Amino acid sequence: MADNPKNISSKGLLKSPELYEYLLETSVYPHEQQPLKELRNVTASHPHALMATAPDAGQLIAMLLKLINAKKTIEIGVFTGYSLLLTALTIPDDGRITAIDPNRASYNIGLPIIKKAGVEHKINFIESEALPVLDKLLEDDLNHETYDFAFVDADKLNYLKYHEKLLKLLKIGGIVVYDNTLWGGTVAMPEESVAEAMKVGRDCTIEFNKLIAADTRIQISQVPAGDGITICKRLC
Ligand code: SAM
Ligand code: CA
Repeated sequence: MADNPKNISSKGLLKSPELYEYLLETSVYPHEQQPLKELRNVTASHPHALMATAPDAGQLIAMLLKLINAKKTIEIGVFTGYSLLLTALTIPDDGRITAIDPNRASYNIGLPIIKKAGVEHKINFIESEALPVLDKLLEDDLNHETYDFAFVDADKLNYLKYHEKLLKLLKIGGIVVYDNTLWGGTVAMPEESVAEAMKVGRDCTIEFNKLIAADTRIQISQVPAGDGITICKRLC
């Protein structure tokens, strides 16, 4: 069961699993829509279940989507589709999500639930690495400055490249959210105490966080929800 705190505790960055469980049980799960619960539970048995967007981060993303009345969005990194379904359930019926991931098999796990929820028509799933898709979108001037929102939850090595391209695609005032920007808390740990498997991601994330914090084209807020998310609003 994904609701079991023993399974979700490693996602939260709060000081105890009990505190994270409290937050989820009190404020997140009571408002989580049924299809999202279903998708979370289906994903819980996947060997890479921890890749799914944390429900508390998802709740914040849904609020942002509503606050800016997002209609046209991009998602980089779909996996089984938790954040994608969340976006599709939140934007209006004529909204559109360009969802990019080279792994269609993972997307297919969540697709029946997305279909059942009646929101598949809002999704244009593109089975590809994200960079060539973003480049293709940028070739057409008509796509520039037209997107309201983007969510990036994919290969950390490319976050800075995504950032440059997304800033051209986003409207002024549009928002891009980056996931995993605290990388399991390792960004603040001495290098020698970081597990080998986490090191590359940690180094990229530290570099990304530094550059994004110095980027005057955006307003940012880094929030310790899930594994850390950084919200960036395009200013100019
Ligand atoms: N947001 C998803 C969710 O809510 O379940 C989780 C995404 S998971 C952490 C990362 C995903 O990024 C994987 O499905 C992986 O296939 C995808 N990915 C890896 N490299 C990519 C790339 N170059 N372009 C787009 N997606 C990529
Ligand atoms: Ca993630």
